[in-house]
Amino acid sequence: MAVIDCDVLVIGAGAAGLFAAFSAGQRGRRVQVIDHANKVGKKILMSGGGRCNFTNTGTSPANYLSANPHFCKSALARYTPSDFIALVNKHKIAFHEKELGQLFCDSSSKAIVRLLMDECAAAGVQVRTDTTVEAIETIADGWQLRTSGGVFTARSLVVATGGLSVPTMGATGFGYQVARQFGHAVLPTRAGLVPLTLSGKPLQQFDGLSGVALEVQASCGKASFRNQMLITHRGVSGPAILQISNYWQPGQPLHLDLLPGIDALAWLEHNRRERGASELRTVLAEVLPKRLAQRLCELWLGDKPMRQFDPRQLATAARLLNDFPLTASGTEGYRTAEVTLGGVDTNKISSTTMESRLQPGLFFIGEVLDVTGWLGGYNFQWAWASAHAAAQAV
Ligand SMILES: Cc1cc2nc3c(=O)[nH]c(=O)nc-3n(C[C@H](O)[C@H](O)[C@H](O)COP(=O)(O)OP(=O)(O)OC[C@H]3O[C@@H](n4cnc5c(N)ncnc54)[C@H](O)[C@@H]3O)c2cc1C
Repeated sequence: MAVIDCDVLVIGAGAAGLFAAFSAGQRGRRVQVIDHANKVGKKILMSGGGRCNFTNTGTSPANYLSANPHFCKSALARYTPSDFIALVNKHKIAFHEKELGQLFCDSSSKAIVRLLMDECAAAGVQVRTDTTVEAIETIADGWQLRTSGGVFTARSLVVATGGLSVPTMGATGFGYQVARQFGHAVLPTRAGLVPLTLSGKPLQQFDGLSGVALEVQASCGKASFRNQMLITHRGVSGPAILQISNYWQPGQPLHLDLLPGIDALAWLEHNRRERGASELRTVLAEVLPKRLAQRLCELWLGDKPMRQFDPRQLATAARLLNDFPLTASGTEGYRTAEVTLGGVDTNKISSTTMESRLQPGLFFIGEVLDVTGWLGGYNFQWAWASAHAAAQAV
């Protein structure tokens, strides 16, 4: 079988891989992209509920988790959300801001995959799907890869295989394997931006509340997010929970402010004064979903008219409303997680070029690295920015 020679070989035709491929192609490099899946950009297609939250206008290094919080700074500063928005505008893709700087396509995520593929075509990039890498080795002037689609040689090798989340979409730990092969440490991985599960008593206490949604302030350690929470059959989900899941470690307590922005004690005292004959559950149902208000009163707060609460009981109820302790038993895992925390240790990777400091010509970009963004378009912005950084150096 003939050897296919190129300048840059990218493994992974996802967000980071396709971006790096066309950017390198625009710099005159001969680029090949290979992916084992039958289709490119599967995660892009399923992202943002099918509308791809492709960036966040408020992106800053503070929106990322990594063992080295400084690592992402250089790449993010050199390829900004405005740069990607300019590309989206160039392709005449209509978009809107949903909330908190999150930009979504008006129509479909397909538009972002088309953008990437059109740029790849214009830059002369070859993209091959259904191609499995069998072996990687270094040769005198670069790399040789044995794949199910033949032998490839290249000067630079870019690993853009993503994380472990949603294995049914083609996710594998292959990038970690390559990293280890060339001496890199891989930091422990775990599911991120993922629903939390409850078991035993906490699950029973929420029984029958599945589908209830409310705004909460979810906190864990120093991290805190105010957004919607959804009670599910297995536990809790919704943006506030997905965000806090990145910071939660098994065994750690979670705290939910069920009345964010409201001083529950002052509010309860006011209602006792003004509406002493009303049941707490009735008053509470004006600020919380009715089913939840009822359950809180039955199990924790007390089920009686407001005037029958003494100051101590009122203080206890207020504490529970503003600081409800929740014990999660685990997460739903990689099956439903949007991202993977941990990954290739950035310690031996250049933050300006994403090149390995151990193996010249080897690059890691996107989610395979130990850089994980919050929910809200930050993960794609990292994919674009890290890909852009590598593409200037390959
Ligand atoms: C349901 C869901 C919704 C999401 N929504 C958003 C959102 O709206 N906004 C946001 O910013 N982020 C979102 N994310 C996260 C985002 O999709 C990822 O962070 C991003 O796709 C990472 O880009 P990547 O190129 O590093 O990896 P990926 O996009 O995952 O691409 C990796 C590619 O490598 C290929 N690959 C894997 N193993 C091999 C192998 N052994 N050989 C060859 N190829 C291989 C895969 O098939 C895939 O094509 C979402 C994720 C999920 C799961």
